[in-house]
Amino acid sequence: MLGYNARMHALPSSARVAALAGEATRAVAFEIVAETGSTNADLLARVATLTQPTLCWAQRQTAGRGRAGRPWLAADNGALTFSLAWKLRLPPQALSGLSLAVGVALARQLAARGVMVQLKWPNDLLRDGAKLAGILIETAADKNERGALWVVIGVGLNLAQGDALGAQLGRAVADIGQPQADREAWMAALLTGLCEMLPVFEREGFAPFAQEWNGFDAYAGCEVNILDRGEVLHHGRAAGVDETGRLLLDTEAGRIAIMAGDVSLRMAEV
Ligand code: ATP
Repeated sequence: MLGYNARMHALPSSARVAALAGEATRAVAFEIVAETGSTNADLLARVATLTQPTLCWAQRQTAGRGRAGRPWLAADNGALTFSLAWKLRLPPQALSGLSLAVGVALARQLAARGVMVQLKWPNDLLRDGAKLAGILIETAADKNERGALWVVIGVGLNLAQGDALGAQLGRAVADIGQPQADREAWMAALLTGLCEMLPVFEREGFAPFAQEWNGFDAYAGCEVNILDRGEVLHHGRAAGVDETGRLLLDTEAGRIAIMAGDVSLRMAEV
């Protein structure tokens, strides 16, 4: 059954998104649907049949996911929720900095349009300290090509109704403050950013994005804790990321580098 807003609002036009998007998006197949559970799940289920990079954009997503199965909510008519499936000829261990490079690609596009954001290691976009967008990357081996894998990059961006979402979630939530946003133009911009970033990442990894990531770093110089399932693993002062996307932390025992696994970064209470 279609949700209220899916019924009320015409589907975005893939022709218009294509017309507004940059050259780098030319090979992308567009799928725009009124409603689905999770755009990541939809694409992951079908990677074996994909023959080109594919964008799945749902006007309404009813079972969005964050890391570790945490829920991702989308305000009715107030969010962009989409996933991009892209084939990379890289081994799985080369993907460690990808969520950070995705953050840079999105932050660039937002900043270029006057929405100033910060990045929180490893996978969130913040505005005024609250979460504006989430990134979830999932992967699947390419059964038809040895050494290649499909990445499915899921993005949820709050366009409006951050306060209502925040009340529902019991935590601060940001939006870009544009209930009447031109979604097709935003979709085209974010897609262009991702399609420009991915070939560079495939060739050179995270290194070309590290300095820019550090320029967007929300927690630079702050006292932070690194948590694993609620337990404090490390405490120290955040010192940005290195060229592989590891978080640098100045602790009492010296500088350490932390890989993005299932650990979480939190501001320390001082
Ligand atoms: P971590 O720092 O480890 O990534 P996280 O709590 O930010 O932890 P994620 O998996 O990145 O976890 O995101 C899921 C969380 O995001 C949910 O548990 C919920 O609190 C929050 N959330 C869900 N929907 C939204 C939304 N639309 N906008 C902002 N935050 C949201």
